[in-house]
Amino acid sequence: MQTLKFAVLPGDGIGPEVMKVALEVLEAATEPAGLALDFEEADVGGIAIDKQGSALPESTIGVCEKSDAILFGSVGGPKWESLPPAEQPERAALLPIRKHFSLFANLRPGLLYKELTDASPLKTERIPEGIDIVCVRELTGGIYFGPKETHTLDDGDVVASDTMVYKRSEIERILDVAIASAKSRSGKICSVDKANVLTTSVLWRKTATEYIAKNAPELELSHLYVDNAAMQMARDPNQFDVLVTENMFGDILSDEMGIVCGSLGMLSSASLGTQNNQHGHPFGLYEPSGGTAPDIAGQRIANPCAQILSAALMLRYSFGLNDIAEKIESAVKQAVMDGHRTGDIAFGTDPIGTDAMAQAIKARI
Ligand code: NAD
Repeated sequence: MQTLKFAVLPGDGIGPEVMKVALEVLEAATEPAGLALDFEEADVGGIAIDKQGSALPESTIGVCEKSDAILFGSVGGPKWESLPPAEQPERAALLPIRKHFSLFANLRPGLLYKELTDASPLKTERIPEGIDIVCVRELTGGIYFGPKETHTLDDGDVVASDTMVYKRSEIERILDVAIASAKSRSGKICSVDKANVLTTSVLWRKTATEYIAKNAPELELSHLYVDNAAMQMARDPNQFDVLVTENMFGDILSDEMGIVCGSLGMLSSASLGTQNNQHGHPFGLYEPSGGTAPDIAGQRIANPCAQILSAALMLRYSFGLNDIAEKIESAVKQAVMDGHRTGDIAFGTDPIGTDAMAQAIKARI
């Protein structure tokens, strides 16, 4: 029997609630295919601060290092908001884990089912068939990781700077991820930059143009300035298929895509590393796009779909099990279409809880 070895980091708030049922759905989907789950749980975020004094303890990194992928919940909450910024769960756990495992590529599916268009702030007539796009964001370069400085000038004024840095090789490797994604979809890539102003964007655009012409000439490549891309996302998201962009632009655009697609409870994400695991697939971290939802934590009413869909992405990217990933994705869609919905996506139907939602999905696998 083949085993799937992964680390489970539920985190805080709704994290443990949605993680528990996501593992049940994962088991229901993999067991018939003769696959066994071999996962180890570890603390991360606020709970790790409380129990071990660090948001990302060494022991948690050790568990992840022994694994082929990480299934992550979410971290943070009001209890830890008074800590200094550098010690807060998101900053002290998520950024270091991305860095430690060189998670350079963030993929966020922007998926809104036709049946849930009411969840979007866009008018239904703009998205009659729902939304189906993907944002590929570079995650370990750019302004978030470049040199930073704050100093006082001779006249007493204070100056601060963040530096945006990109190497061509960093751009090429994120383009590879976007190319693979576009090949499995409709073959369109839109590269987003600010090449009218930024030197890094000039390199980004030149590299995208030359690299895709050489390595994937069959794909249709377009370019947009980021300000225009933000407008187009709000006007007509389905004009895109795969968007590829640098770290900060991707941070902002993927959040805009999230709200355009409705509830955070439906949105999954994958962050892929530079290293392959023992199966020859990228090591990756898979997590819902939303946070710990402190307003509903502990009530067992959170939508588990984002966590379940994140587990499906883990099967696809880190274990090469595309068929089973699709089976889970279809089951989630079918459950929602059949009217099984948590409060965030209920819109007139009777809302159900986290466990009932997971049961409805399991029943459709
Ligand atoms: P949030 O995403 O937790 O919540 C925003 C809104 O979306 C809330 O009303 C919440 O109830 C709802 N929501 C989110 N996920 C849901 C789900 N699965 N089902 C139903 N409703 C859902 O964002 P926030 O309130 O800004 O942040 C809360 C905490 O989460 C903060 O401490 C923040 O730092 C942290 N956070 C963590 C991550 C992460 O771990 N990757 C990401 C974002 C925020």
